Amino acid sequence: MKFDTVIIGGGLTGLVSGIRLVQQGQKCVIVSSGQSALHFFSGSFDLLNSLPDGSSVKNPEAAIEDLASQAPEHPYVKLGKAKFTELAREAKKFLSEIGIKTHGTSDKNHYRITPVGMLKPAWLTMSGFAFSEDHETFPWKKATLLNIEGFLDFHPEFISEAFEKMNVETEIKHFNLPELSAVRKNPSEFRSTNLSIIFDKEENLDTLAQIFSKNSKDSDVIIFPDCIGLKDTGILSRLIEKVGKPVFLIPTFPPSLVGIRTQQHLKEYFIKSGGIYMLGDNVTHADVEEHHVSKVYTHNHGDIPLMADNVILATGSFFSQGLIADTKKIYEPVFELDTDYLPNRADWYNPNFFEKQNYQQFGVKTNSNFNGIKDNKPIDNLFVSGAVLNGFNPLKEGNGAGVSILTALYVAEQILNQKKTHESNTQ
Ligand SMILES: Cc1cc2nc3c(=O)[nH]c(=O)nc-3n(C[C@H](O)[C@H](O)[C@H](O)COP(=O)(O)OP(=O)(O)OC[C@H]3O[C@@H](n4cnc5c(N)ncnc54)[C@H](O)[C@@H]3O)c2cc1C
Repeated sequence: MKFDTVIIGGGLTGLVSGIRLVQQGQKCVIVSSGQSALHFFSGSFDLLNSLPDGSSVKNPEAAIEDLASQAPEHPYVKLGKAKFTELAREAKKFLSEIGIKTHGTSDKNHYRITPVGMLKPAWLTMSGFAFSEDHETFPWKKATLLNIEGFLDFHPEFISEAFEKMNVETEIKHFNLPELSAVRKNPSEFRSTNLSIIFDKEENLDTLAQIFSKNSKDSDVIIFPDCIGLKDTGILSRLIEKVGKPVFLIPTFPPSLVGIRTQQHLKEYFIKSGGIYMLGDNVTHADVEEHHVSKVYTHNHGDIPLMADNVILATGSFFSQGLIADTKKIYEPVFELDTDYLPNRADWYNPNFFEKQNYQQFGVKTNSNFNGIKDNKPIDNLFVSGAVLNGFNPLKEGNGAGVSILTALYVAEQILNQKKTHESNTQ
């Protein structure tokens, strides 16, 4: 099977590269073994919330020089300030054009609300989700925090505390629908994804609107857990129209409805644009000759190889098994690329869970073009993007999605430029 580009891994980074490449006419396949980090998504993409020394970042675009002095291996530093800024701005446009509407810009972090009511900096927050422009004020006087009776993945009490600290009066209300009793019978099924099946039904819209209105008479905003709109993305705006006042979502504990919806949307967009998505298959190994990938093998296709001009490795970090830790080393299982990690295992993690964990910034080494490196030499047609990369700490620095999206756009650009150069040389 011959493609222009084979992408290994169908999470955020693999899908963004894939969409970009198929939009430009490439024949592209994504092989993805399973769920991605998007299934745990907070509803906000982070670009850069803190520098490695812990100082907080208000304007990510202005922080790249400081980042360069503290973390020379950081993916953003490899991109350089100008490219970082260009791609961060481009990313918002790219998402919007493929139907993912967000609030935020790359020159000013805003604040998202976590499931326990904390305010955390964010770059792009998905449309429909509650946010604040700063960490001291909300634009509301009184908020109704509306929950479903017996739903344990949303805790309005914590959110109420956070709102009250910011001078927003709150009231917590619960409601029930007869249809929910079937789902409620099994507590492990009483999750956002199953609730959404009921709330997404058009025939329930009027009843829901009445419940929302009745419970929020003197509030100027309604806050609701993210358990509506899995399949029907327009249902929230129709509900808001009927209620006649703003309704904002707050993420719940996993599974993340907004994450699953985003993953599905990206995947469907990729397929609709001509891409092939092989879900549930696993790339096991590859033939690499003279620092060039010639063939890629998957579990389901056995000895029938996938061949392509270029390959993108987008397999994620430890969480998705893009990186594996054994007792002595950290390795990348498909190509056995050179990895960056501390030699002494005791230095990999800090027993204090909340401290910076060194293992989080271990990953695959690349050159400045994001080519994977094997035995100290770059592989000319293998590009690496997203969470599998070395040099950044997504949790401490708050930059997971930013690295994934920006490096995805960057490697797609490298591949497309290569093709243009080749075409102009052969004319
Ligand atoms: C639990 C969790 C929650 C997060 N939440 C946020 C958030 O809210 N906001 C934010 O900015 N960042 C968040 N991050 C950071 C996150 O890393 C990035 O946002 C981003 O989603 C990572 O995307 P990725 O595509 O690089 O990797 P992943 O999402 O990990 O995707 C990698 C994919 O590759 C597949 N794969 C792996 N090996 C193979 C193989 N050999 N063959 C085929 N397929 C393979 C996996 O099955 C997976 O689908 C979170 C990270 C985690 C772990």
